[in-house]
Amino acid sequence: MKERIALVKKLAGLTDEESRAIADTGGLPPDVADRMIENVIGGITMPMGVAVNFRVNGKDYLVPMALEEPSVVAAASNAAKMARVKGGFAVTNTGPLMIGQIQVVNVPNPEEAKKSVLAKKDEIMKKANDQDPLLVSLGGGAKELNVKVLSTLKGPMVVAELVVNTGDAMGANAVNTMAEAVAPMVEELTGGKVFLRIISNLADRRLVRASATFEKHAIGGDEVVDGIVYAYAFADADPYRCATHNKGIMNGVVAVGIACGQDIRALEAGAHSYASRTGRYKPLTTWEKDNNGDLVGSLEMPMAVGLVGGASRTHPAAKAAIKILGVTKAIELAEVMAAVGLAQNFGALRALATEGIQRGHMRLHSRNVAVAAGASGKYIDLVAQRMVGERKVRMDRAKEILNELKEEE
Ligand code: NAD
Repeated sequence: MKERIALVKKLAGLTDEESRAIADTGGLPPDVADRMIENVIGGITMPMGVAVNFRVNGKDYLVPMALEEPSVVAAASNAAKMARVKGGFAVTNTGPLMIGQIQVVNVPNPEEAKKSVLAKKDEIMKKANDQDPLLVSLGGGAKELNVKVLSTLKGPMVVAELVVNTGDAMGANAVNTMAEAVAPMVEELTGGKVFLRIISNLADRRLVRASATFEKHAIGGDEVVDGIVYAYAFADADPYRCATHNKGIMNGVVAVGIACGQDIRALEAGAHSYASRTGRYKPLTTWEKDNNGDLVGSLEMPMAVGLVGGASRTHPAAKAAIKILGVTKAIELAEVMAAVGLAQNFGALRALATEGIQRGHMRLHSRNVAVAAGASGKYIDLVAQRMVGERKVRMDRAKEILNELKEEE
């Protein structure tokens, strides 16, 4: 690692300070970092905050969230506080089922091939399960085999799909191993040629469903309820708005995911592909007014997370974050993340439907702007406070204020 950073430092013309900033791996021991990915030169640390007030399925949680964006942790905590008035979040899940796909091309008779594969279902699933006796002993393993014939740009394709209960694992390695192991059997039965053997991140058999009722007076009254319902209708009708609506949900989901060492690319891929499953891009949440005039929100999305494997077991900070959260099963982690996603969406919509997000956001962002403008030490807060007071949270103003403060001394 040292040699690599020295070389990169030279090639990129980094200063000592810049190369030290990268070489410092924070709470991640360098030898662990060096084994996690390739060509490691250091690390990048992000702040981890804890969101408070979360009650999920009657249990209280302190929720670690790691991200670079100000206001997200505050908004989640505030939303969770408002949800508590009516008991917090109720979340259910479909169980940890992931899908592994085996692609077969050049199949002489696709419909016959489909029948032949299905006729050997038990043998194929046994072969899959032979790959992972540990998972099977824990109640997981291949549970179903489905076959579909796709019409593609390159002609018909047969795709066999293994449905695997991955227990407390995210499951990509487990499922990919199974898909590769059964591929020769599928190839022989279809008479075609297998190419891809890989998990699908459209984890629509691994869903979480969260709901919460927000008492109208606790959130600002009838107008706020109506504003949020209108905001949802906007997202439902328009993909431009919907992308940002769902991004707000992922602010929460991904932040908990990063803190707990999850594969957040898999979470993002699952979320957005699920949002598009009808052929139109839709919100992952729904918002409506109930008979009492209160606001009811619900979220449904895939949540492929694990507590064995991946960084959740290797990164010391992720392990500690999971301990803070206090979850022992992957489905419990998934359920809390769903509650955070719903809370985050509520927080964003409430702000947007009332004063707009910028006031709160820029107040919290002001310290970042001050630092970017060159402030350090005591000047960070001084510059930030003055910008907030003037309602001018901008880099040019930060620089001016910084100069003024220094001249005053
Ligand atoms: P893994 O292989 O490290 O761990 C899973 C294994 O742990 C299981 O196969 C099982 O043998 C064992 N295990 C022990 N206790 C278990 C329990 N209680 N429940 C379930 N399994 C238990 O990891 P994984 O979860 O199979 O794979 C996750 C990794 O794969 C992530 O790092 C991800 O980034 C990566 N990955 C993702 C993709 C993708 O999403 N498309 C593709 C390839 C790799």
